[in-house]
Amino acid sequence: MDNIELNKPCGCASEHPENDAQYAGLQVNAGIEQPPIVNPYMTRRKRRPQLTVSEYVEGIRKGNPAVLGQAVTLVESLMPEHQLVAQEVITKCLPFTGNSRRIGITGVPGAGKSTSIDVFGMHVLNQGGKLAVLAIDPSSERSKGSILGDKTRMEKLSIQPNVFIRPSPSAGSLGGVARKTRETIVLCEAAGYDTIFVETVGVGQSETAVHSMVDYFLLIQLAGTGDELQGIKRGIMEMADGICINKCDGDNVDRANLAAAQFRNALHLFPLPPSGFLPEVVTYSGYYELNVDKVFDMIDRYFEHVRANGYFEEKRRMQEKYWMFETINEQLKARFYSDPEVERMLELKEQMVLANAQSSFVAATDVLEFYYKNRI
Ligand code: GDP
Repeated sequence: MDNIELNKPCGCASEHPENDAQYAGLQVNAGIEQPPIVNPYMTRRKRRPQLTVSEYVEGIRKGNPAVLGQAVTLVESLMPEHQLVAQEVITKCLPFTGNSRRIGITGVPGAGKSTSIDVFGMHVLNQGGKLAVLAIDPSSERSKGSILGDKTRMEKLSIQPNVFIRPSPSAGSLGGVARKTRETIVLCEAAGYDTIFVETVGVGQSETAVHSMVDYFLLIQLAGTGDELQGIKRGIMEMADGICINKCDGDNVDRANLAAAQFRNALHLFPLPPSGFLPEVVTYSGYYELNVDKVFDMIDRYFEHVRANGYFEEKRRMQEKYWMFETINEQLKARFYSDPEVERMLELKEQMVLANAQSSFVAATDVLEFYYKNRI
């Protein structure tokens, strides 16, 4: 080994002394050339050119689902420049909206919302309708992935041409998410979708948001799970324009009918809703597609009633008013909390309140005073 020249200027012996002619052991084979880190065959994907406002509106009006999808993405975007374009598109689409049935669908997880929406949706399509399925999913705020409105949950609908399915927007507060869904309704209606389903989970505050953007609020319930009113909050029962008891099939039929009777009794105890329509209760089976037409007969009776007594229009006007105030509240809050100076002050004040050095009221007043004086 001693006489091997380890520092030969050329040849692989300098790198691998084992390859020297005098070395008696195993030699090192030349390796293969390493591929480049970046795949040379990969071409940079072209960025989709941003459409102009009139291109968006034209595409939406023609019912082009790709353009509609892009416009909804703009509505959901947090970038201010996207928001500007989105608002212009919405304003231009507004004159073409309103000719639809907006139906909110709620129920606890497992009640059969996605199974039912799949068959309800097919019913709408078979009647010659065009359907959009949207969702408001409070859990998506935490999981950063929306569960409701997911195409994979609606096997039949997801392959139909006259259906637009959009999961819940996931970023932001419930108010922000709800506003985006509401704006998406405008775009869908301008694109010719005449039935809009807005799905939500019947466990939190999101029903109030959905209730404030739909004409009809349908509560999907189950029978035979012990307490027949299943912890569904009184408020949600009161919001419902109709209740349908799912899974009325097999040996569950009697229990479903019993639950329907109990719900009817419970609804009689509530005051008559402002629509003047006493909510009805029907039983059906989403999975076996039984009595789905009964559910739609119930919905149709409601629409006939409120169109005749003027409540349909009145409710939509009240919803417009509600959304005006909601938008103001949300934007004021967003602007306040995103102010860097306010953020800094709030951190400080929070420490002081926690340390009992200042009362919460005084701390809040200080921050608000600063904001009023310097920012408004
Ligand atoms: P969601 O969580 O409210 O969307 O509920 P799903 O639609 O995912 O349904 C929950 C479970 O109930 C699934 O296993 C469905 O197959 C089942 N299911 C839904 N509808 C019916 C029905 O009408 N009858 C029966 N027996 N099972 C159903």
